[in-house]
Amino acid sequence: MRNTIIIIACTLFVFAQSCTQGLKTPAEKDNFTRITLSEEVVEFSKILCKKYDFLEYKIIGNTITGKEIIAINASSGFSDDKLKVLIFAQQHGNEQSGKEALLIFLRELNNNINWLDNIEFWIAPQINPDGGDKNSRLNAQGIDLNRDHILLNARETQALHKLFQEVMPHVTIDIHEYNPFRESWQNFGAYKVFDVQVGIPTNINVSEEIRSFALYEVLPAIEKHLNMNGFSFHNYLVGPVPTEGRTRHSTVDINDGRQSFAILNTLSFIYEGINGRDGFLENLKGRTFGQYEALFAHINFINENAEKIKTIVNSKREMLVNSNSKIKVSIRMEHFPAEFPLVLHLLSSKTNNDTIIEVENFHPVVKSLHEVTMPQGYLIPAYDSLIIDIIKKHNIIYSAYETYNNHKIFAYKILDVDTVMIEELSNMIPTLKKEQLKILKDNYIYVPTAQLHSNFLVLLFEPESMLGIAQIKDYNYLLNKGEMFPILRVE
Ligand SMILES: [Zn+2]
Repeated sequence: MRNTIIIIACTLFVFAQSCTQGLKTPAEKDNFTRITLSEEVVEFSKILCKKYDFLEYKIIGNTITGKEIIAINASSGFSDDKLKVLIFAQQHGNEQSGKEALLIFLRELNNNINWLDNIEFWIAPQINPDGGDKNSRLNAQGIDLNRDHILLNARETQALHKLFQEVMPHVTIDIHEYNPFRESWQNFGAYKVFDVQVGIPTNINVSEEIRSFALYEVLPAIEKHLNMNGFSFHNYLVGPVPTEGRTRHSTVDINDGRQSFAILNTLSFIYEGINGRDGFLENLKGRTFGQYEALFAHINFINENAEKIKTIVNSKREMLVNSNSKIKVSIRMEHFPAEFPLVLHLLSSKTNNDTIIEVENFHPVVKSLHEVTMPQGYLIPAYDSLIIDIIKKHNIIYSAYETYNNHKIFAYKILDVDTVMIEELSNMIPTLKKEQLKILKDNYIYVPTAQLHSNFLVLLFEPESMLGIAQIKDYNYLLNKGEMFPILRVE
């Protein structure tokens, strides 16, 4: 009798997909022969939020075509003191598996409900819904969202950073896919086919303790679980085929979804799941579950170490907020070789068998090439709305500048500008002469460095910084030979 009632109840509710057994994601229902479209992401998330008390649906922004950018909050009880974790996927619309994995992750939270004792989640399954529906990398405005974390030109990245500023997560995970099946690798004879690569902060201004914890504790926990479940793993590798250039662990740039949060001393990660060989549907199921299992292991580990992570991140953020002029910030970094070559397990493109190669040209070590001492703050010309716009979008503390007697103000005279290659990209290095100013001719706004964005500000505002604002096309006007650099240092 009881079974009959359940069956009837299920039949009644199957329309609303409310039976636990039938609660499959749209892609799952069709056995991953198609992707979940943005409308369905919204619909499925709403169904889950209705079903489970611990889930709450939030619209964090709208795209230029009016699509909702959503985040689901998962928490139980009072959450002020919990470890906060922000997971987001599909900044790149042609990378589908992260979104599919996050929809399953949200549903499966009900089976991992003990996580909510220690963790409050914010899950944004699809940052780029316009690109996702078209399977195109860029958003509807043609912006590569994962190269838009400094300027925040796109509504999608603005929404993500606003959410970050409101929630202040200790941990962030940015889910992507990589394409190993390029022609150059086919010609090389073997493919890099790790199911999931996970990258950690590599910018050496990010707290050493955070980077070490990520590398020596978090990554091994993910690797172990993936291997036990039949998935392969690697610390995120970037580079052309080994005969054509060097291999390194991604970039030190802070303009992406991993390092823009890492530079605020966040325990931050990037996932790079394997893309499909013949388009986005090939093995979508396997790719989705690879990402899901990585997440499962990752969150399990984080849950067990929640107190420790909170203590590390909080104390390292406190250091940023209390920054002083004794601190050195590296503004130019490069990747250097390891002692030993990298042993890589690859897949032969000819025989389809496993093959092992040794990569001699492996540069996993990041070292500083040039450092500056941190000033008390920077002065930005009050007329420069382009720069002030960035400050506002990042919720950076600033005020109108009034002269203080104990402030010494310095300007850089630009004697020359050279172009060099760094991280395989063209970069401008000025030759500078530092001069103390007695009088300020213009109005300025004052941006103190004793705040969360401490290192971010130095990297952005120093003229010699490889990641500086002056390197960005629309801001090249800042670096003119023979002129003064418009941003001033207060020491
Ligand atoms: Zn991507």
